[in-house]
Amino acid sequence: MHATSTVYASRIQRFRLPRVCVPIVGEDPARIIERAESIVRDNPFLEFRLDYLSNPLAGLPKLKHFLDLHPEATVIATCRRAVNGGKFKGSATSQLEVLTKAAAAGFQLVDIELQSAEILKPQQLADLKDQVGVILSFHDFKTTRKLEETFTDLKRYPADFYKFVSTATTLYDNVQMMKFLQAHSAQFEMVSLCMGEQGIISRVLGVRAGSVFTFGAATRGEETAPGQVTAADLRDTYRIEAVDAATQVYGVAGDPVAQSMSPIMMNTAFRRETVNAVYLALHAKTLKDLLACANDIPIRGLSITMPYKQEIIEALSNSDALTKQVGACNTVVRGQDGKLYGFNTDIAGIIVPLEQRLTLQGAKVLIVGAGGAARAAAFGLKNKGAEVFITNRTPEHAQTLARQSKSKYMKRADVAKSSFDVIINATPVGMGSSKQSPLEDKELNTRYLFDLVYIPAETKLIKMARAKNIPVISGLEMFVQQGARQFEIWTGKPAPIAEMSFVVSKALERIAGPNGNGATPPTAAPEVEEGVETPPVHPVRKASAPGKKKAKTHASKSAKKAARKTVKR
Ligand code: NAP
Repeated sequence: MHATSTVYASRIQRFRLPRVCVPIVGEDPARIIERAESIVRDNPFLEFRLDYLSNPLAGLPKLKHFLDLHPEATVIATCRRAVNGGKFKGSATSQLEVLTKAAAAGFQLVDIELQSAEILKPQQLADLKDQVGVILSFHDFKTTRKLEETFTDLKRYPADFYKFVSTATTLYDNVQMMKFLQAHSAQFEMVSLCMGEQGIISRVLGVRAGSVFTFGAATRGEETAPGQVTAADLRDTYRIEAVDAATQVYGVAGDPVAQSMSPIMMNTAFRRETVNAVYLALHAKTLKDLLACANDIPIRGLSITMPYKQEIIEALSNSDALTKQVGACNTVVRGQDGKLYGFNTDIAGIIVPLEQRLTLQGAKVLIVGAGGAARAAAFGLKNKGAEVFITNRTPEHAQTLARQSKSKYMKRADVAKSSFDVIINATPVGMGSSKQSPLEDKELNTRYLFDLVYIPAETKLIKMARAKNIPVISGLEMFVQQGARQFEIWTGKPAPIAEMSFVVSKALERIAGPNGNGATPPTAAPEVEEGVETPPVHPVRKASAPGKKKAKTHASKSAKKAARKTVKR
């Protein structure tokens, strides 16, 4: 059997389809229609999951009414069988009946699994394809492998679109998926992406590798899987409709990175300065995986976060003097020669906000903490001529850093007896829902308090300082300034600091929730992406064994205030 086009294919050619399709689930037709009505104006390309209906056939007349009212909408009917990851308990023949009637009701496309095609008679599939555009789909809920082998199976059946959705367990899985797309998309209409938190690259870049479209969740709050992206984020943050062959790829790499504010900040900066670039969150479980992916895509620049700030240095062709001195790199750029070069912009993130307020030459600064951020602070401040003191939970760590950076070690017991121009908190104490402070009230004898923690924006320590009328600098300022320097290194343009600060403070407000404690996880909602709720057991392919149920994903008015201060530069 050969893949042939139908009259429907001409109605749904790739250039006529939006790049983002939004799956909609609902237990009854009224709920599907309510959700569809609320989003169809922004998202005219929808997928109705008929298998979520208790009686899909009975629901079709009501759904037909929506289709009649919305000729501008392109809607896929999917009635995935339970054995293939859906909710439909009927046989493949019953599934075919639902899809055939959906076609008659006006759906432009239907999705049917490879496993059902393997059960049905060739003529039954041919008849369906004569009536409607057919998406022949295969989902691997555990891995990204056997792409060619599975595609050979898919191609045996006629379809207008071949949809192959896998699960990324490494960043490199995205590269494999995009190579697969590039190999076949000239000849076939392909729809492919990798699910899972590590699949973000394929969700955004898959369309330029040849995927006709991709899937985005209806709203924030309806996504529960790590790495799920809303249709609005795909369009507004990642500008998926504009991604093309010339789009340069950047990202923040670390483990974990799911909660990173960098994508929203850097994508905003790229958009504001009209740079054709996209910035992604790259969950790298190993540095080797990150480097392989970065080389093959290729990635133009990386923000490096924990735990790779030290380890990455070995992989660089060269780095600047401060990076070598501190021994940590948070910024990588690919040079014209294709090699990777490292910088440390955390130092600027700490120094710039301070220099906006006081002269550092001769200033007396106490750093609380002796980890990576404290190292950046200590070396940066010493280079500016400050008198630096370091105290830490583990005294030996502070003593080592003090010796290396030519600073002074201070016993915790001596802090309350001293006064400083600046105290910097470089510990995680106060982060998230923690209501703790790294210092006691009597120890806050300082002209300025700089808390590097930025989630939440208003930490216990900041509140304590405000109560004593001590001017505060929030970690948000550091975050924005280190990002601004990265932007400048990558693009050679001045960073749009005001916009960067604004979007991050807004995002912090959003995740802080009404109580502003920075700890409110988003409401868990049913999995809607790619319309799969329960990872199924594939009856014939081991690759599709059940995956883990996806984990639930998860900072204030003062953030806005802090952001306003940030934009002084
Ligand atoms: P790190 O390398 O893990 O160092 C953490 C430091 O905090 C260590 O000195 C550790 O002491 C100390 N510490 C950890 N838990 C403590 C506790 N419960 N009580 C007292 N001290 C404790 O982390 P890092 O990379 O330096 O980051 C530190 C914090 O800075 C982060 O959590 C983050 O909030 C903030 N940060 C902000 C930005 C920004 O852009 N705003 C950037 C980087 C970091 P020991 O030596 O005893 O383990």
